[in-house]
Amino acid sequence: MSSTSHHMTPDEFRRWGHETVDWLARYMEEVEGLPVVSAAAPGDVRAKLPSAPPERGEPFSAVLRDLDEIIVPGLTHWQSPNFFGYFPANTSGPAALGELLSAGMNVQGMLWAASPAATELETLVMDWVAQLLGLPDGFRSGSAGGGVIQDSASSAALCALLSARERATGYAANHRGCDGTLTAYASTQVHSSVEKAVRVAGLGSDQLRLIDVDYEYALRPDLLEQAIRADEDAGLRPCYAVATVGTTSSNAVDPLREIGEICRRHGVWLHVDAAQAGTAAVCPEFRHLHDGLGLADSFCFDPHKWMFTNFDCDCFFVADREPLIRTLSILPEYLRNQASESGAVIDYRDWQIPLGRRFRALKLWMMIRHYGVEGLQFHVRRHVALAQRFADWVRDDLDFVLAAPVPLNLVCFSHRAGDAATQRVMDHVNGSGRAFISHTRLSDRLVLRVCVGQSQTEERHVKALWDLIREGAASL
Ligand code: PLP
Repeated sequence: MSSTSHHMTPDEFRRWGHETVDWLARYMEEVEGLPVVSAAAPGDVRAKLPSAPPERGEPFSAVLRDLDEIIVPGLTHWQSPNFFGYFPANTSGPAALGELLSAGMNVQGMLWAASPAATELETLVMDWVAQLLGLPDGFRSGSAGGGVIQDSASSAALCALLSARERATGYAANHRGCDGTLTAYASTQVHSSVEKAVRVAGLGSDQLRLIDVDYEYALRPDLLEQAIRADEDAGLRPCYAVATVGTTSSNAVDPLREIGEICRRHGVWLHVDAAQAGTAAVCPEFRHLHDGLGLADSFCFDPHKWMFTNFDCDCFFVADREPLIRTLSILPEYLRNQASESGAVIDYRDWQIPLGRRFRALKLWMMIRHYGVEGLQFHVRRHVALAQRFADWVRDDLDFVLAAPVPLNLVCFSHRAGDAATQRVMDHVNGSGRAFISHTRLSDRLVLRVCVGQSQTEERHVKALWDLIREGAASL
């Protein structure tokens, strides 16, 4: 360890960097054999670590040892091919290396002038992503709109809502706050981040109208229009609606075209949240799920869920960048610069809540260059096919019943004997350490969710999960 400067020297970094990459490569090789869910009880991990920081710097080898002995046993292994819970948070070698480079160079891309390549690469990569998913031309940087990388779908929903709020109030709410008349709309199945956004943006959650869904858990446009009209008649100002492509509970797809037409008629900002399912659009055969997206004011999806890019990375697109920038831009003297004033550059600080921003485009760029369109399509098709096979097994089974349609890679199902039996099956799977699944409630019934989306998941893992589920059912 370098004693005089206390810094890690470049030579030491080279050595420990190699060790760390070796450590990660070994982790990738071995993660399949680790218990998917940690057996740690609350406080277990912390109790094994010193409560105060070390007075003198320690060798990096000691830290790596603790990583193996204390931290890893306390982890849930999201990169395990046997992880089927929630929505995936998959990653890949090229994305992880991009993250490493971004961390090491640690440029701060708040303004174009703060690091031109960070901004220009982001604009380029977002245009690539728009092409990858076949998004409407209006979301590309050459149009009035464009894309920006946010940390999360939650932030994207908030930025969209703030822009909607300002557009609806002639940019007055930014100065005077909300007056209690603005209303927002989404289905009962919308992700909780939308209610959080409605709170944070100052509308208040009482102003969020949760619209009922049809038998496939998709928002009912007729009820949306009724709710908007009722609010207009009451002197309120409908300003924001969220349609979801791939709801969190069941991957339901709201009918974008009908919702978009209603929003257009009533001057309501339509944000489309495709957090997980959006990735499917890399395959032309799944793009029908985005039919009507051209009517949306904004759209987001998370490469950090299903597109082989480590957290955090949300792609947020707007059809018109002006309301977003006008809503979020404040220009103090210390950020003034010639490039911004020339109007020739993008300053992404004006497209997000924080000022500072990580160089996230690097990992997305590296991931896309590694896989190519063909590689991404291959893996998305593979995941969807595996989930469909799993759904067939459920359909053919006498003990289980599908709880929702399976448009893509998420299968929702229950035990026919009811919630207690469903719960026991889930406990059997998750208690085994051999796989992890999660749950939700649909139509007041406990439902198990199996989502196929981890980078290394193959047919044998899905089959082993089904055997485990059958084993759980047999032991009831
Ligand atoms: N929207 C949907 C449909 C989701 O499923 C999720 C998370 O699972 C989110 C939004 C929130 O995602 P993030 O963690 O990127 O904010």
